[in-house]
Amino acid sequence: MLINKAYKFRIYLTKEQKELIHKTFGCNRFLYNKLLSLKKEDDSLSRFDMIKLIPTLKEQYSFLGEIDGCSLRCSVFDLDTAFNRFYKKIGGYPRYRKYEAKSSYRTNLITSEYRGKVYENIKIDLNNKILTLPKIGNVSIRGYRKLKEFPGKIINVTVSREGNKYYASICVSERVEVTTHKTMKIVGIDLGVKSLVITSDNEYYGNPKYSLKYESKIKGLQKWLSRQEKGSKNYKKTLIKLEEVYRKLKNARKKITEEIVSKIIKYNDVIVTESLDIKRMTNRDKNRKNLRKEILNATFGNIIRTLEYKSKWLDKKLIKVSPYYKSTQICNQCNSVDKSMKDLNKREYRCIKCGNVIERDLNSSLNIMYEGVRLLVEGNRING
Ligand SMILES: [Zn+2]
Repeated sequence: MLINKAYKFRIYLTKEQKELIHKTFGCNRFLYNKLLSLKKEDDSLSRFDMIKLIPTLKEQYSFLGEIDGCSLRCSVFDLDTAFNRFYKKIGGYPRYRKYEAKSSYRTNLITSEYRGKVYENIKIDLNNKILTLPKIGNVSIRGYRKLKEFPGKIINVTVSREGNKYYASICVSERVEVTTHKTMKIVGIDLGVKSLVITSDNEYYGNPKYSLKYESKIKGLQKWLSRQEKGSKNYKKTLIKLEEVYRKLKNARKKITEEIVSKIIKYNDVIVTESLDIKRMTNRDKNRKNLRKEILNATFGNIIRTLEYKSKWLDKKLIKVSPYYKSTQICNQCNSVDKSMKDLNKREYRCIKCGNVIERDLNSSLNIMYEGVRLLVEGNRING
């Protein structure tokens, strides 16, 4: 099976390279916003039309010609993807890109042949730790010390700045052999507030309080930011600090997610989970008010996405029950429904009909598992 895997390296730049990279961020933001405003006027503008517009825009705005041209095409693809998400009602109407402490641009690998020789615009030398990027040239990289060769072909590179650090994330297409130990087990998982994950085997994984330290830092910096003059030097400095805290939070989230997901996948063949409303997984500016909830939702989104790709890689089955399935209100013993369980403060399910008393999240995860079994049987009936 072919999978895309990203390798993220820290990169070290000269002053000139840094300037050129900042310029590339700026130019891509400019192009994206320019095309977005044209698209606002004429919605019929296709991806192909937008690509054809690049040379004209380059003539009009000569600075666009000074950077990696391939990255401009990638920005067009990004805008096109944003619109497709909007048309499919997965995302909102694309918004203008603003200056932020976190910036990135992407560039694709292009292979060309000239007089029997093959040329590539992106090169990597893992032994000497050198990455060659179009227009930027050679940069030294750090990370993956033991890796001497990529196990596949490079597809693209995303160059990013996070706070005051720079990274290159190299996307590689790899062939993986799937060998999995089969456990013949099915598990239901509930995403909770007391523990991040509660399984139908009554196992608890991950403490939602992992983010407390970062939350207070973010809140403090946001307060600072609101007092500073927008666009001023200090404002930008605070933005960079804020980005740094968000980066650390993201890494902490990644770590906790990996731990939880690898355990669940190791012990089970079929994993049943709730499906989360994508709109709840909004990006960070929308829900600034409720930081706690926002971080928790992002963590849940992360857990589900990781479950999705890991179960694919490891040949396990992931079943998502409908977001309308009321896993918390049903009694796992007698199937009666108790609407009062909508109240999140009720930590225990007490069934009036059959007398079943069970912890709220465990009841929910058991129901999710039963619903998964039902869907599995139904699916087999339809397919077979
Ligand atoms: Zn009952």
